[in-house]
Amino acid sequence: MQNLNVDIVIIGAGLTGLTLAYYLRESGLNVKLIEARERVGGRIETRYDDGKASIELGATWLGQQHQKLIALLKELNLETFVQRLGETAIYEPISTSPFQIAKLPPNNNPSYRIKGGTQQLIEALQQHISTDQIIYDQVVSIRGDTDRVTIQSNQFEIVAKYLVSTLPPYLFQSTIHVEPTLPDELVDVMKFTHTWMGDSIKVGLRYAQPFWREDALSGTIVSNVGPIPEMYDHSNYEDSVYALKGFFNGSYFSISKEERLAKVLKQLEKYYGEQVHQYVDYEEKVWAKEEFTSSPYEDHVFPHQNNGHKIYAESFLNDRLFIGGSETSTIYPGYMEGAVNSAMHIFKKLNHRINS
Ligand SMILES: Cc1cc2nc3c(=O)[nH]c(=O)nc-3n(C[C@H](O)[C@H](O)[C@H](O)COP(=O)(O)OP(=O)(O)OC[C@H]3O[C@@H](n4cnc5c(N)ncnc54)[C@H](O)[C@@H]3O)c2cc1C
Repeated sequence: MQNLNVDIVIIGAGLTGLTLAYYLRESGLNVKLIEARERVGGRIETRYDDGKASIELGATWLGQQHQKLIALLKELNLETFVQRLGETAIYEPISTSPFQIAKLPPNNNPSYRIKGGTQQLIEALQQHISTDQIIYDQVVSIRGDTDRVTIQSNQFEIVAKYLVSTLPPYLFQSTIHVEPTLPDELVDVMKFTHTWMGDSIKVGLRYAQPFWREDALSGTIVSNVGPIPEMYDHSNYEDSVYALKGFFNGSYFSISKEERLAKVLKQLEKYYGEQVHQYVDYEEKVWAKEEFTSSPYEDHVFPHQNNGHKIYAESFLNDRLFIGGSETSTIYPGYMEGAVNSAMHIFKKLNHRINS
């Protein structure tokens, strides 16, 4: 067991944790991030393969309304590009009728992707954080005392003046033991706070050519029949390497990768023909199986339920513990914008505590 003594510990090196560490970079404080996975980024994960299209297995799109995220991207010199939708979409309203080709109206409020992949944002933030600030280990318990918090991970015991959790709140309350126990009201809210996209499945296929753009078609698919409800052209900004990427019905989490791939190909073949089988490779991610994102709900929790709940604005354990993370944000909770907003708010609170 190794012992450390620091000013601030941030649990989780996803977008909230890394952005907070970035904001704190000139504070002169000793800040450590502790991350359970072997990689940073959390629900942002871009799969790269040299010379091929990158595939987003997590967060992909942002919009003009995501002003704090846009400001952060500008600050980090990262650029965005408009999601290619094409002029038509494949639309499949019911299983008893054939699919339709729907003409898409002009897109006045497009979605954007980050050039080079969402992971670029994670890497840009990381460049402002020294490697020894990130500890790769799983936090298992927290103990609050009057003037400090003790964080126990598998291999470390860290004493900190302040502690910030950036875990999805449901995951926090179901996986981390806290002493003394947190207020019932907080625990109850956490138990019913939805983890955005925690039960989703992403699928992507790389291809040598964007055949889906032929015959006045596009890679845009909207299907009520599924199992792919939505799919989009996922080629790179330069349009030199090609892919399709979309969501797969989350209830198919227990079948094998091969079985999911077969279903993906079957659905795509219906629209584009035999050529769909000529894929270069297939990527997927079943987020329900990610123990550091999802844990099974005890009760039914609705999408976005309790996201941005006012109790998350409070502090706990004698004003030593702050609960952050995208789901706690009052604006765009669950999204990347929510993560950046959460980091900003906690940065202000910490500044206030430390400078007063
Ligand atoms: C499939 C999918 C698609 C999405 N699409 C979009 C999109 O298009 N646009 C958008 O804006 N948002 C999207 N999102 C949401 C977006 O990814 C999240 O809002 C954002 O990344 C959340 O960041 P976070 O840091 O708050 O949480 P997380 O990314 O969940 O970070 C929490 C971190 O804590 C770590 N951790 C967990 N338990 C422990 C422990 N015990 N000890 C130490 N570390 C721990 C985790 O490993 C993780 O790194 C999507 C998410 C998914 C999964």
